[in-house]
Amino acid sequence: MRTYAPATTATVLDRLLEEPSLAAAVLHHEVIPERPPDVAPFPDWLDERIVAGLRSRGIDSLYRHQAEAIEAIHAGEDVVVVTPTASGKTLCYTLPVLQALADDPSARALFLFPTKALGQDQVAEFAGQAMASSLQVAVATYDGDTPAPIRSAIRTAGQVVVTNPDMLHSAILPHHTKWFQLFEQVQVIVIDELHTYRGVFGSHVANVLRRLLRLCRHYGSNPVIVCASATIGNPAELAAQLTGRPSRLIDRNGAPRGERHVLLVNPPILDVATGARTSALTHAQRWALPFIRAGRQTIVFGKARVAVEILLTGLREALREHLGPRSRIRGYRGGYLPTERRSIERGLRDGEILGVVSTNALELGVDIGSLDVSVLAGYPGSVAGTWQQLGRAGRRLEPSVGILVASASPVDQYVIHHPEFLLERSPEEARCDPDNLHVLLAHLRCATFEMPFEPGEVFGPAPADDLLAFLGEEGHVRQAGDGRWYWSSENFPASEVSLRAAAPENVVIIDTTPNRPRVLGEVDLFSAQVLVHERAIYIHESVQYYVDRLEWHERKAYVHKVDVDHYTYANRAVTLKPLDVFAEAPATGGRRVHGEVMVASLVTLFKKLKFGTDENVGWGPIDLPELELQTTAYWVTAEAVISPVRGVGGSAGSAHAPGSALADPAPRRLAPEAADGLGDPSASWRRDDLDVALVGAGRALQAVAAVLLMVDPRDLGLVSQVRSPHQESPTIYLYEAMPGGVGLSERLFARHDELVVGAAELVASCSCESGCPACTGPRLDPGIDAKALALRLLRGLGAAATRAPSAPIPARVA
Ligand SMILES: [Zn+2]
Repeated sequence: MRTYAPATTATVLDRLLEEPSLAAAVLHHEVIPERPPDVAPFPDWLDERIVAGLRSRGIDSLYRHQAEAIEAIHAGEDVVVVTPTASGKTLCYTLPVLQALADDPSARALFLFPTKALGQDQVAEFAGQAMASSLQVAVATYDGDTPAPIRSAIRTAGQVVVTNPDMLHSAILPHHTKWFQLFEQVQVIVIDELHTYRGVFGSHVANVLRRLLRLCRHYGSNPVIVCASATIGNPAELAAQLTGRPSRLIDRNGAPRGERHVLLVNPPILDVATGARTSALTHAQRWALPFIRAGRQTIVFGKARVAVEILLTGLREALREHLGPRSRIRGYRGGYLPTERRSIERGLRDGEILGVVSTNALELGVDIGSLDVSVLAGYPGSVAGTWQQLGRAGRRLEPSVGILVASASPVDQYVIHHPEFLLERSPEEARCDPDNLHVLLAHLRCATFEMPFEPGEVFGPAPADDLLAFLGEEGHVRQAGDGRWYWSSENFPASEVSLRAAAPENVVIIDTTPNRPRVLGEVDLFSAQVLVHERAIYIHESVQYYVDRLEWHERKAYVHKVDVDHYTYANRAVTLKPLDVFAEAPATGGRRVHGEVMVASLVTLFKKLKFGTDENVGWGPIDLPELELQTTAYWVTAEAVISPVRGVGGSAGSAHAPGSALADPAPRRLAPEAADGLGDPSASWRRDDLDVALVGAGRALQAVAAVLLMVDPRDLGLVSQVRSPHQESPTIYLYEAMPGGVGLSERLFARHDELVVGAAELVASCSCESGCPACTGPRLDPGIDAKALALRLLRGLGAAATRAPSAPIPARVA
């Protein structure tokens, strides 16, 4: 074993790249040159005390993006600031807020962070800045941990209130009369980590903001809204969806940085037949270890708590002899006490801690200073998240290294084979749908409780009267003689709405580990079937829980904390029926459609799979009733692929019994791009082959869709039908796994061509022989070439011949 021998980051990296087994795993090595700072002077109007405070902290000028943001906010413009981690984004909003308070101490500001921990960090940061400026500012967090006696003081005297959307929704808005000082005087609303407000959560938060702005109007205030986000494809659009107002995009980063190396690494395949790979955890450790040995500060990210444990144990084991105290390598994850986390953060900042293994708990804005090396064991699920984790390494003057090690999941494999996806552009979109009817109605109830609606008053897309009349039929809302709509129920509507779930009926998850059981969270019924069935391992903020009991009719799941080496996967049997078509267009090989569907879901058994290898280590039955879900979907039909000359009105294969050939010898279309030995897409199909092709192509489409739309693959359900009873043709459906959907399927419909091409690339570039879990899904029958069949179908659907397997891009950009 090599001993602890200090060396520079660049030297260690060069040495690693000389080792053939590691070098062979590198698919891409990008060198991002160092960049000098782009600065601007402090604006004339900035209060002298604030300027003095900045100078006392060593800040003598602003970066370009800070100056631009501050100027715009000062002029009353909404802005969205999009710059990388550690670029001084926070100053963009703390300075205008300090200025407002310096001008008028009765001014108020509201800061929203997605989690409690981030909010608490922000209070310390803001208080430090205020103190340096010799300004007396009452800044406080208002969250679930705030003690009752302090709450009333914050309500009346808190000048800067730091909270999260859940508290705003359930504790602040419904009690607005107690908060009148805030609502009357609020001048700035800050929404940080904007990119986390997407999907169902984002749709809810957009409606919470509608309620907030409605109350501000009532109290006569007109605050500026400042959003800050990690890099995503559509920041201004997301900000507009969330706030309902246009905002100015500020994305010219003026912060300096040293040279950066970004490596995309694919662990070697062990068995070509099954596609089994070296686990991302083992491989990540091989890259991290030499840097730590050389005394370079290194962070390793694992996706779950158990991954963190495996990495931590492995690294400590390998280092124990020559590195001094074990505490120089630490773990960091959800479930740690705040004091413990603070001590780790401090140790990282002052260099006492050399290595840290973390879940994405450290991904968001927590301040740990800048490290030398960041190694990601697995793709974090979004480009934004990847850059936040890679961005943990980034010295101002010295080179830094970021390494993404792919797992065997199709999503990871797609990303690792598309370096341009991470490096050149940010095509992934964060979206929400504030007008989802379930979500809109839930918040209309809350808004009516907060304040009666005037006749014709707009809430969201249109005047709310029709929806209020609908709520009136339920008996919760009543129209009075003056035409206004009043809340007329004993119920407290906000307590019945969870911002983290789509449907009104949720299963509440109760953690029985502590002496006094506590509510851990909620999941909607559809997700509950697969996530919290009895004996499931439920993962919450990277902590594992075992589900002891699920009381389906009571909508309660009882869980306790565990630490196990496996997770559970429940098989959902789904039947799907289209209800309505919203949009339809011809596409190569068939049609693409966006519409409404009814999904019936039955879950009957689960598997236990080992982390890292996905090895099956057991199973169990699930006894739950069938559920129906009405939602939106995108689907693609392939009638012209299997029978190229038949028109829509033809009797497309109506006589085919199951198992028979689907297409008879019809005239072949010219398909020059397919003459590559993998099969002519327009040749006739055997029914069994078509079945395999649809499943394989569907899996690849699902993975690419999840990547492009920045969602968990589980948010998009997959159904394929060899001969859909409704479409009369082979069809692949991707449906949104939440009632009503949140606009994902509409985007998939629009990006159809990209999806088909991306799916074909994913399958073609996989280094397996004939299909594997990383591309077309687990292999069912070793005799079937799922890879060739899926590719043949995708080419028939318009994917041009894609590059051959094992053609990595070893380019080293200088
Ligand atoms: Zn494969």
